[in-house]
Amino acid sequence: MDIQIQGINKQFGSFTALGNIDLTIAEGELVALLGPSGSGKTTLLRIIAGLEQPTSGSILFGGEDLIGQSLRERQVGFVFQHYALFRHMRVFDNVAFGLRVKKRRERRPESEIRDRVMRLLRLVQLEPFAHRYPSQLSGGQRQRVALARALAIEPRVLLLDEPFGALDAKVRKELRRWLRGLHDEMNLTSVFVTHDQEEALELADRVVVMDHGRIEQIGPPSEVYEHPATAFTYEFLGNVNRFDCRINDGRATFLIGEITVPDAIGDPAVAYVRPHDIDVFAGRVMSGEPGIVRYVSAAGPLAKVEVAVGKADNRLIEVELSRPQLHHLDLKVGQTVYVRARKARVFSLAENRHPSGEALSVKSEAIYDDGQAAAVASGR
Ligand code: ATP
Repeated sequence: MDIQIQGINKQFGSFTALGNIDLTIAEGELVALLGPSGSGKTTLLRIIAGLEQPTSGSILFGGEDLIGQSLRERQVGFVFQHYALFRHMRVFDNVAFGLRVKKRRERRPESEIRDRVMRLLRLVQLEPFAHRYPSQLSGGQRQRVALARALAIEPRVLLLDEPFGALDAKVRKELRRWLRGLHDEMNLTSVFVTHDQEEALELADRVVVMDHGRIEQIGPPSEVYEHPATAFTYEFLGNVNRFDCRINDGRATFLIGEITVPDAIGDPAVAYVRPHDIDVFAGRVMSGEPGIVRYVSAAGPLAKVEVAVGKADNRLIEVELSRPQLHHLDLKVGQTVYVRARKARVFSLAENRHPSGEALSVKSEAIYDDGQAAAVASGR
């Protein structure tokens, strides 16, 4: 069942929670709504579900306009962050609930309900727990019950609001893979809300990055991560070092680098450099900025290094090095090194306002290649 979201606006009094949202979700897709707190993700999900009415705009499932229809009429399965199970009901009855409250003419005989519930409990690997109460389950198990309950009504669409938000990191990871399998196996069309970029990038077919009630970018995980369309997306997805930039004669100059940028890029601008796109040298190099190693952590697959650069060493740069690189450099806290950006992305500041007060409209990416920069740019 495809979902079309057309021109959705939502006002809470004079506050605009969603501004003109257009989004089409294909049948069978798993889409993540990703953004910081307050960006409007939950409001959009609740509008798709029919739990909230938009101020204007349309929601279509398979071409049918659903505005005014309730959650039940829309045949939507909804999973809340905090389980929302009925505490006084056993696991079995929680899952059976949606089937038992159907109108008499739509209700299946109890024997069929029983079969369906047991099938779902098997699917979520909770068959032995059918007679337990929610309080006798772990958080991960409760959330699996919530999923089984949402799936019991054979939803046309499955909507999940931060489904793993209350769980610890290990359980989250397990449930993530498991949800992906379930989505594929049951041929669902699913939308889930998260503020966890790793979760969105790992699980979704497409990621919708939201900020301040509008969509910043839509694309497959690799595209939004590798080619962020705006400075907001760049900062939100992954660690980044941000530098003020000066543009002169098509060259952008910032603290740890200098690159050629297209003519469309003018002052003022910002340059972003990912921690793994910075080279560290033990000896002086051309256009390398001197700095002092402040911190070295070799835990994990990549070593994290902080280098203080700039006047009075007041700018901390985050760098990630491979283990062999760290070993080769033999870095010590207090040591003088030289840092240089290997790859940077420059955004000029223009009409669209960024949360931090900047505005972004044109992007440019420049990649060092033997000291020569190659640049690409596109308008937004
Ligand atoms: P979080 O990750 O914190 O849940 P979110 O991206 O899901 O955030 P929403 O819950 O959709 O954000 O809220 C978007 C904005 O709308 C917020 O600024 C919020 O304060 C506001 N908002 C949400 N519901 C209401 C309401 N019923 N009345 C007034 N304002 C609301």
